[in-house]
Amino acid sequence: MLDSIKKMFSGEDDVPVNTTGKPDISREKSAELYAKAKTFFPGGVNSPVRAFKSVYGTPLFIKKGDGSHIWDADDNEFIDFCCSWGPLILGHNHPKVKEKVIEVMQHGMSFGAPTALENELAELILKNNKFIQKLRFVSSGTEAVMSAIRLARGYTKRDKILKFEGCYHGHSDSLLVKAGSGLVTFGETSSAGVPKSFADETIVVSLNDTEALQKAFAEFKDQIAAVIIEPIPANNGLLLQTKEYLQALREICTANGTLLIFDEVISGFRVGFEGAAGYYDIKPDIITYGKIIGGGLPVGMYGASAEIMGHISPDGGVYQAGTLSGNPVAMAAGIAQLTELLRMGFYKDLHKKTEEFTEAIQRFATARNYKFKVFSIGSIFWFAFTGKETISTAEEIDPASMEKFKVLHRELINRGIYLGPSGYEVGFISSAHTKIDLEKAKRAIFDSLDLVFKK
Ligand SMILES: *Cc1c(COP(=O)(O)O)cnc(C)c1O
Repeated sequence: MLDSIKKMFSGEDDVPVNTTGKPDISREKSAELYAKAKTFFPGGVNSPVRAFKSVYGTPLFIKKGDGSHIWDADDNEFIDFCCSWGPLILGHNHPKVKEKVIEVMQHGMSFGAPTALENELAELILKNNKFIQKLRFVSSGTEAVMSAIRLARGYTKRDKILKFEGCYHGHSDSLLVKAGSGLVTFGETSSAGVPKSFADETIVVSLNDTEALQKAFAEFKDQIAAVIIEPIPANNGLLLQTKEYLQALREICTANGTLLIFDEVISGFRVGFEGAAGYYDIKPDIITYGKIIGGGLPVGMYGASAEIMGHISPDGGVYQAGTLSGNPVAMAAGIAQLTELLRMGFYKDLHKKTEEFTEAIQRFATARNYKFKVFSIGSIFWFAFTGKETISTAEEIDPASMEKFKVLHRELINRGIYLGPSGYEVGFISSAHTKIDLEKAKRAIFDSLDLVFKK
């Protein structure tokens, strides 16, 4: 028995025998592809979390997606709550997005010259967003954030930036920095290969702590170019902040001539068309978008007032460029997707559906006295194995609770439910998730939670 299960998970030695719940689904084809991928890519993947290091078994190789469902190489079918980590707010292979992409592709895929499609997507965004006046398209969230930081430094002629423990902003050097010990710290690099001198320009403080912020601004008076925050931190659990805290942050930045950057790569177009800025009605100085904006193709964007954006080349002295920036096929997908989001009632329906789903799961867990909480906002949710009523800082997450998530993840995979392969990641509901999908998912989650808490 042990050997056959080990074989299913291929080469993973730490997979315990499945003594509970459903038998493990076959991952034979995925395992073959993974073995081959390991000869091509470090860890067999092109982005680390995909390697399933925090959950059981071989990563599933996906061959098809349609609506809310995906199919892996072994023809297992799943209801997908990862949604490509957020971009697919309309689900997989949405007909309107597909049609527009195919139409545009007929005329060539890249020119390195301006196209009308860039105007079209920009107009769609700017007409419906009161927080920014001009924007620049790039090709990823990382690139958007990296450029926004450079813009803030160029604009303020200051070097330091301040970020928060528990927020992720992509993998550019200045932001691969984590807190040291102490209330206000110079960052320590969180990746090999980041020069210490870069990390020295990044100050890291805890979320939801106004006192730490004030201390940082006192200590580094007139040196902080920008504060960058995920206004809805969703990359290390879902660490919801209060409006009062975000408002205080806005005021401290204004008082110190520091630019406030909202990194809305996840929250943008997710909690509403105007993202978290609109949700909380707080105006940041620069906003970054990614994920949803590209309809599943690689697009990122940063935007600000016309005055701030005037500092970007060729108008200003802050250099930023991209061979494939504003790529017509990617613009087409973005145009088609954002057009759907602007339909009346789109967000209301999506949020209501999510609320029903998350509340039902919470009711179930509470009724059984499970130390389990579903945190959620808009169509984002996070399953936390905790007895706490709220979690608003990274420090409040108990790393030991991730062992429970591992079991949950495996049980859900075996029941045809796909969550991102880490307990620190949030889940997403798309407009393609049907009532039947959510009913099925709920039942699978109930059964799996019973198993997780059985011991
Ligand atoms: C995903 C993400 C990024 C990085 O975007 P990539 O497209 O993966 O480079 C940056 N910031 C936030 C808030 C994100 O969620």
